[in-house]
Amino acid sequence: MMAHTFPAATGFLVSAQQGGDRAPGPVFATRGAHEAVAEALRTQTLNAVLVHSGSAENAVARSGDTALVLAGELYNREDLFTLLPAGADARTDAQLLLALLDVYDLHAFRLLNGRFAAAVALGDRVLLATDHAGSVPLYTLPAPGRVLAATEIKALVPATAKAPPSGRPVAEARRVRRVPGVHQVPAGTVLDIDVRTGTAVPTRIWTPPVSRRILPEADATAVVRETLARAVRARTGGSTPLVVLSGGIDSSGVAALAAAHTHGPLDTLSMGTDTSDEFPEARVVATHLGSAHREITVPTADLLGQLPYAIWASESVDADIIEYLLPLTALYRALDGPARRILTGYGADIPLAGMHREDRLPQLDTAVAFDMATFDGLNEMSPVLSGIQGHWSTHPYWDRDVLDLLVSLEAGLKRRHGRDKWVLREAMSALLPRETVTRPKLGVHEGSGTTSSFSLLLSDAGVPDADIHRAKSLVVREIFDRVVVEGLPPAEVSTADAVHQAAARLKETE
Ligand code: AMP
Ligand code: MG
Repeated sequence: MMAHTFPAATGFLVSAQQGGDRAPGPVFATRGAHEAVAEALRTQTLNAVLVHSGSAENAVARSGDTALVLAGELYNREDLFTLLPAGADARTDAQLLLALLDVYDLHAFRLLNGRFAAAVALGDRVLLATDHAGSVPLYTLPAPGRVLAATEIKALVPATAKAPPSGRPVAEARRVRRVPGVHQVPAGTVLDIDVRTGTAVPTRIWTPPVSRRILPEADATAVVRETLARAVRARTGGSTPLVVLSGGIDSSGVAALAAAHTHGPLDTLSMGTDTSDEFPEARVVATHLGSAHREITVPTADLLGQLPYAIWASESVDADIIEYLLPLTALYRALDGPARRILTGYGADIPLAGMHREDRLPQLDTAVAFDMATFDGLNEMSPVLSGIQGHWSTHPYWDRDVLDLLVSLEAGLKRRHGRDKWVLREAMSALLPRETVTRPKLGVHEGSGTTSSFSLLLSDAGVPDADIHRAKSLVVREIFDRVVVEGLPPAEVSTADAVHQAAARLKETE
C-alpha cells in the first residue's frame, strides 16, 4: 500500500464534554485549512477543529460509542492490518486506530509506530496519546465535565482565559509555563481521563531500551541498514520527498535510502548563511545520488530574527534546543511553494551519542541514557516547525524500530575504530561517497554559525560571558510569553527587545 502524500490532519483542538456541544475557535501556528467536526456520543460530545490540507474527514473515525481524531500518520500499517478481522474497514489511519482500540482498548497504542497525536472519546473516557517519542506534542486541560486537548499550547490559551481553570493535576505530566492547568501529555504515555471527574491515569506504552545488545559488526550494520531503509520507505510513499541535506552522514544516509525507492530524481535542499555553510559537502552527496538539489542562503543577520518563529512553532523554553532549531526554522520559512513531505536526518545523534565527541564507552552510554531520559518536552522534532510553512516533516532516525535498535546497540558499536556513529557510517558505506561516510559531525547550529551570533548579540547588550547561557534562557522565556501565552504574532515580537529585557533583568539580580 502506498503511504499517503500528506497526513489527513496535522493538528487539532478537541473539547470533550458531558452533554452539549460548544465549538471552540482556536489559533494554530501550523498552516492549513480548519475544519470543525462534532461527534455526539451517548454521554459526551467530541468537538474538534482540525488543521488539514484537504482531507479532514480522514482524520476522524467514529463507531458506536467511540470517536477519535488523529493528527499525523502511522508507519507500520501493514503489520497493524494483520491484527484485524478480515474485511475490517480501515482505509485511513484514524479508522485503523479505531479498529485496534476496539480489540485492545488503550493498549492499541503499544502497537503503533508513527508520528501522531490522538484524542479518543470512548464511553465516559477520553484517551490522549502521542507516538512513542512524543514527536507531535499534545497538551491537555482536564476539568470535571470537560477535557480540552490540542497539539499546540496557544490553541488552549483562550479557553484558560475565559474560564479560570478548575483543571485537575495530571500525574507524571509536565506543566506548561504560565498557562494554568495545562499539561503536556508525556511521550510514550496514554492519559486515560474520566470526563466526569477530569481525573487522568497515565499508562506507559513505550520506554527506551535500557539494556544493550551484543552483535557482530556485520550483523549490526546489516540490521541498521535494513531497519533504517524500512523507516525511510514508510515515510517516502508514492510521492517524491524533499530531503533537507546537510551533507553529514545522518541526512546523507536518509537521502541515499530515499533515492533508492523514489521514481525519478529525489529533491534535496541545503541551507547556509553568508558567513558559513556546508554547501560543498552537500553537493558531493547530491551529485552522487543525482538529486535535484537546491541551496538557500540566509543572511546571518536574519537568523536571530527567527527566534520568535522557532519558539512560536516549537513552544519549547529550552534555550539550547531553540538555538539549535533556528537554522532549520529559517530554512523551512524560506521554502515557499507547494506543501512538501520533508525527510530529515534529525535525531540520529541522540541514540548514537554523536554530539558528545566522546571516546570512552562508559561516558558514551551515560550520555545516551541521559539523553533518552530527558528528551521529552523539548519538542525539537515538532512538525509545527515546518508546519508554519504548510510542510510535513518526518524523521526516520526516530522511527520506533530504528530508535529501539540504535539505542540498544552496545556502545562499542557506536564508537569504533576511532569513529563516532561507526555502525551508521558502516551501514551506509556502500551507498555514499567515502568522504561523506568519514566526515566528522557538524551540528546544524555550528555549520551555520548560529551559536556565536546569539552569544554576540547578548555580549553587545552588556551581558558578561559567564551569564550568556542564563541570558539566553531569559530571552527564550520572554519571547515564549509573548508568542505562546499572549498569542502575539511572531512578526510583532522583537528579538532585540527581549535581549535588552534579559540584559536588564540580569543587571537587577547582580
Ligand atoms: P544536525 O544538527 O546536522 O544533526 O541537523 C539535523 C538535521 O537537520 C540534518 O540531519 C539535516 O536533515 C538537517 N540539516 C542540518 N543542517 C542543514 C543544512 N545546512 N541544510 C539543510 N538541512 C540541514
Ligand atoms: Mg549536520
